[in-house]
Amino acid sequence: MSNKWESNAEIQRFREYLRIRTVQPNINYGECIEFLKKQARDLDLPIEIHHPYDETKPIAVITWHGTDPTLSSIVLNSHMDVVPVFENLWTHPPFGADIDEQGQIFARGTQDMKSVGMQYLGAIKVLKDKGIRLKRTFHVIYVPDEEIGGDNGMRLFVKTEAFRRLNVGFALDEGIATPDEVFSVFYAERSVWRVDFICHGTTGHGSLLLENTAGEKLRHIIDRMMDFRAEQQKILKNNPELSIGDVTTVNLTIISGGVQSNVVPPSLTALFDVRIAVDVDHDAFEAMLRNWCKEAGGDIDIQFVAKRPKVPPTKIDSSNPFWEAFHETLVDDLHLKIKPLVFPGRTDSCYIREVGVPAIGFSPLNNTPVLLHDNDEFVSADVYLTGISIYTKLIEKIGNL
Ligand code: ZN
Repeated sequence: MSNKWESNAEIQRFREYLRIRTVQPNINYGECIEFLKKQARDLDLPIEIHHPYDETKPIAVITWHGTDPTLSSIVLNSHMDVVPVFENLWTHPPFGADIDEQGQIFARGTQDMKSVGMQYLGAIKVLKDKGIRLKRTFHVIYVPDEEIGGDNGMRLFVKTEAFRRLNVGFALDEGIATPDEVFSVFYAERSVWRVDFICHGTTGHGSLLLENTAGEKLRHIIDRMMDFRAEQQKILKNNPELSIGDVTTVNLTIISGGVQSNVVPPSLTALFDVRIAVDVDHDAFEAMLRNWCKEAGGDIDIQFVAKRPKVPPTKIDSSNPFWEAFHETLVDDLHLKIKPLVFPGRTDSCYIREVGVPAIGFSPLNNTPVLLHDNDEFVSADVYLTGISIYTKLIEKIGNL
């Protein structure tokens, strides 16, 4: 198949990146790093590879130096990995990067988020080709394993001396595509908690009515958690201004326990996935959970499988000059519509914000069906190239702040 987009150098670079199988689990990042080294060479930019975990989890940093080294730098972050595919449910090979007659490019990672990783470079190339030099230094960072929590990637990297030396003042990271013209812009994330309630109780014969059984306690905990869930659902439904990231979500994900059908077990366990809204006091929330355990009859252990700290949102007002520049570029200069939101899931921005660096999640993918982690993930070539123009303006503005 041949069409007008195939000869475009930016589309070629993007499709080449999409064909590298950085798919979870157990990724070999070697080919991807070689590809990024080649991009850095082509752009005449230095690249450094860091290994905050070990050799299998590389982090690439491509740097475009600014003219004023006293100013803080800007990070343009993206992750190299993508989620698995159900190949038989795709109409195009998921690592083929086919482009159809309408210019739709199909591959895992077209939206999440190999597009963004290459658009950053496309924008820098436009500026460099014009001979433009910006005041601030840009670090284009490629991290591993975001899709499995970033524990051996960005979480470690932000705590290294190497990261500290980058002197980062602001970061851009991923957002989500939108089916209409309004771009979503993410300034915060909820805190992920995974709470395991291990309910201990009287054991005995299944024919009796024993007191203080694990089952009764488990019922109480599930009731309280589900009542809380229903309240949050109501808050969300009754206020059209709110989106899912504005409320606390609670979901029962695993129940386990029991030994035999006629034996009352010594313990039963319920695991909840909880995403705590940004305005909730964590200590008060935990106290509420512990109080429910007491109400249920006690002897319930709480184990936190995950317990992310409260991370302040990135300011989206005049106190943050980077936000002002972001807003001005998109809304005033480019006449685009944006909607600031709390991200519904988790991205590596949480680690960046945790070390005090303001970060905005933004993928310039509007008028695009939301297909991240889905079958037939695609982006249209026109949307992709427009995204490069948006980043070009944005980088130029922020880089001269
Ligand atoms: Zn992503």
